[in-house]
Amino acid sequence: MPLTTRPEPPVPPLCPDRTCHSDIHGRLWKDTTHLRDDPDAWRWYCPRCGRHWLPSRAEFDRHRTPPST
Ligand SMILES: [Zn+2]
Repeated sequence: MPLTTRPEPPVPPLCPDRTCHSDIHGRLWKDTTHLRDDPDAWRWYCPRCGRHWLPSRAEFDRHRTPPST
């Protein structure tokens, strides 16, 4: 029988600020606070330095929230 696998959520990248890399909180979160109708309206958020970062084009593609069906 076919094995159905749910796609693993991609792991978010580390904060671009290198000083955050040694901290456990230095991994970015996907902040969808301002996500409205645009699936690309999200930003990275680093809980360590408290800054938002603009995702790269590839990250937009990789971490896009799949439309709910
Ligand atoms: Zn940071």
